[in-house]
Amino acid sequence: MTDDTSRRDLFKGAAVAGLAAAAAPAFAQGAAPLVDPQTKFTKTPFAEQPQKWPALQRNMRPVPDCGEASYRGSGRLAGRKALVTGGDSGIGRAAVIAFAREGADVAINYYPSEEPDAQDVAKLLRGEGRKVVLIPGDLTDAKFARGLAPRAHRELGGLDIVVNNAAYQQSKANIAEITPEQFDRTMKTNVYAMFHICQTAIPLLKPGAAIINTGSVNSVDPGEELLDYATTKAAILIFTKGLAKQLGKQGIRVNMVAPGPIWTPLQVAGGQLPGKLGEFGQDTPLGRAGQPAELASLYVTLADPGSSFTTGSAFGANGGTGAI
Ligand code: NAD
Ligand code: MG
Repeated sequence: MTDDTSRRDLFKGAAVAGLAAAAAPAFAQGAAPLVDPQTKFTKTPFAEQPQKWPALQRNMRPVPDCGEASYRGSGRLAGRKALVTGGDSGIGRAAVIAFAREGADVAINYYPSEEPDAQDVAKLLRGEGRKVVLIPGDLTDAKFARGLAPRAHRELGGLDIVVNNAAYQQSKANIAEITPEQFDRTMKTNVYAMFHICQTAIPLLKPGAAIINTGSVNSVDPGEELLDYATTKAAILIFTKGLAKQLGKQGIRVNMVAPGPIWTPLQVAGGQLPGKLGEFGQDTPLGRAGQPAELASLYVTLADPGSSFTTGSAFGANGGTGAI
């Protein structure tokens, strides 16, 4: 062994020892306790609490858990710029909180009357030193929807992650009860806006960027009282897969998250048939509805460059119903 190799070996040993020392404090805190997903969040049936559309999360009981107090980042999205529609509440808010805590700056779109919910999340994240841009506006207005991504790009100083998450859902037991206006609004919010936003965002995106669309278990297994909504969610699945094929050669990934029953404002503003809220989520194998916080890691993972071979795919969070 030459002096050189022994010095190298010594150095290697020191580096390993150093690594162990660096990792030690984390281990020293002890293993995180295993958490039973059946009891991680409330199993108590939800009380009827109808709100005018679009409902405010801050007025729900219990208030949905979007990870405000629990999500911890580790720099997975450091320096990224993200646009999230419907980011004021529910699943979109959970994605926004997680993105911000992973080091991203975020732009949030929401319907103008949701300003109180949007202010709540902006205040929380700005207090943590993140940049949060608020862009209220109606996504059924094609002009507004087409201007949204360019505006987010301008105000954030770039755009790397686009989450099409806003949706309109009104339960109706029979097709006869779906008015042409409801059908039109559901299509415009859930499908047309996604098309407008993707078409205007793509020229602004660089290789490595990610588009994430929020689908549903309804994308493949329609709830019978959600005919129009489920139709849009099926469209979102195919749009995701088709766009991923087109954008592979530009290095842009496109994926979908497919939630099951999650406790969010959409459910108390006509999303469930009257009198049905008490049953919401009770029939999943985990025996409860999900909370938005339980989806955050899926959005982060799909935005993370570590998922670089994942595109055109759908990932579920549905408590075991087996849909996606
Ligand atoms: P949510 O009410 O918190 O989010 C929906 C958001 O859509 C609203 O906050 C609102 O900002 C936005 N929106 C609706 N119409 C709009 C318009 N015209 N202009 C601008 N914004 C508009 O409820 P959520 O459940 O978190 O919904 C987020 C996504 O999750 C939706 O795509 C929904 O279909 C999907 N999803 C939810 C569930 C569930 O059980 N909650 C299940 C499957 C899929
Ligand atoms: Mg909302």
